[in-house]
Amino acid sequence: YAGKKNAVVLTESMLNLKVKDFQASPVVVFDQMTVYDAIIHMFSEDVGTLFVIDRDEILQGVLSRKDLLRSSIGSQDLNKIPVHMIMTRMPNIAYCKNSDTLVDAAKKLIERAIDSMPVVKETEAGVQVIGRVTKTNITRAFISLAETHDL
Ligand code: ADP
Repeated sequence: YAGKKNAVVLTESMLNLKVKDFQASPVVVFDQMTVYDAIIHMFSEDVGTLFVIDRDEILQGVLSRKDLLRSSIGSQDLNKIPVHMIMTRMPNIAYCKNSDTLVDAAKKLIERAIDSMPVVKETEAGVQVIGRVTKTNITRAFISLAETHDL
């Protein structure tokens, strides 16, 4: 009986882990930024994924480390290529809301085989980026669950 009760308690606290409690700040770049500058920005901000927005701050795309590496193969001038040419673009972006459970966000990351997702607010004009959820945030939540339950 004790085992079953513990399982119920653990399930409950897992479902109580919300994106809003573990999300990080988003790191965004404008769609006209060059690939060269985006590479510098990725290093200086110490993130693995950049979210691309337009002048109205609407989410347009995502840039991963490998997207940037791929575009660096060959002899193109990275100062002449805007990031919108190489990003993964809407509507193919996986995103979540801050009210979502972390379990649902984790499932989405695994299903799509990606490292990170924008946390968004839906508006009439499109989606606005308000946060970021990564595998690191999920790992942190996993640890907090273990600590809460004295595992
Ligand atoms: P990396 O490419 O550096 O291994 P990811 O595994 O996160 O990093 O990205 C894999 C591919 O999926 C990249 O082309 C990237 O643009 C794309 N991608 C990353 N995050 C998302 C997302 N939230 N929605 C859709 N595509 C994404």
